[in-house]
Amino acid sequence: MSSVAVIGSGTMGNGIAHLFAQHGHEVQLIDVNAEALERARATIAKNLDRQVKKGTLSAEAPAEILARITSGTDLAAAAEASLVIEAASENPEVKFSLFAELDTLCPPETILATNTSSISITTIAERTGRADRVIGMHFMNPVPVMKLVEVIRGRATSDATTTTVMTLATSLGKVPVEVNDAPGFVANRILMPMINEAVFCLHEGVATAEGIDTVMKLGMAHPMGPLTLADLIGLDVCLAIIQVLHADFGNDKYRPCPLLEQMVAAGDLGRKSGKGFYDYRAS
Ligand code: NAD
Repeated sequence: MSSVAVIGSGTMGNGIAHLFAQHGHEVQLIDVNAEALERARATIAKNLDRQVKKGTLSAEAPAEILARITSGTDLAAAAEASLVIEAASENPEVKFSLFAELDTLCPPETILATNTSSISITTIAERTGRADRVIGMHFMNPVPVMKLVEVIRGRATSDATTTTVMTLATSLGKVPVEVNDAPGFVANRILMPMINEAVFCLHEGVATAEGIDTVMKLGMAHPMGPLTLADLIGLDVCLAIIQVLHADFGNDKYRPCPLLEQMVAAGDLGRKSGKGFYDYRAS
């Protein structure tokens, strides 16, 4: 797997590009938004410098790693890659049309992976003529740091595709876990109801944001509280995932908290917009 195309250069796409380039792969980073590509390059450079300061990378490594990443707005560049990882916005229509287009652009043997947090792999695969070579490769945020990759098999995903992606994830220093296609898979089926419930606690005035996060950090030994984590993930992404759980399970226990809906409508998306449950504009 020498060359990889990453579609979408936001929070996850820049981390995925960073990880693959650090492990010697050539990366085509593609986004519809040229500014997002510039921001992604700056973020990768900043994160690489942090690794140099920590002593986990040599001083020469960042320039070599950045040189392996080519970026652009033309999806056709994905045709040269032997693996495509889609990390565009968590919107079913965006993913469906991307996969239909990628299917026509890429050679038949290319594996098309998606980093979706919750959208059905089987349904995405249906948009292509290669459902056996469509798979979920769900990285965690921040990608260069977090060990887990959920590898999600759609109904038609072949054993060969699954083995290739599991082996690749291991070669990137990650621990892959194979799961079957179900709304939210494992990670978000458990995580998002917890985050949504934390937002309900805040909405109903049960405790402050700091109070809720401290209860979960000190009481449950979580490394960060659910509201801090929601800010890191992006509140728009959290809302999109809980909406998929609500719609796909048809169960009101997954109804999004109105406060989460309001904050997304107001553009308070967490770290990426500078403000969410906490204010990041000074930092
Ligand atoms: P984001 O909003 O930070 O970035 C999405 C990027 O996709 C944007 O730069 C946007 O311009 C681009 N985009 C939108 N439509 C496109 C198209 N048609 N072609 C190319 N680029 C397009 O989102 P994110 O947080 O990076 O999430 C990306 C994916 O990863 C989503 O499916 C999300 O559910 C998943 N995910 C997110 C997290 C997280 O913590 N944020 C964790 C795991 C998985």
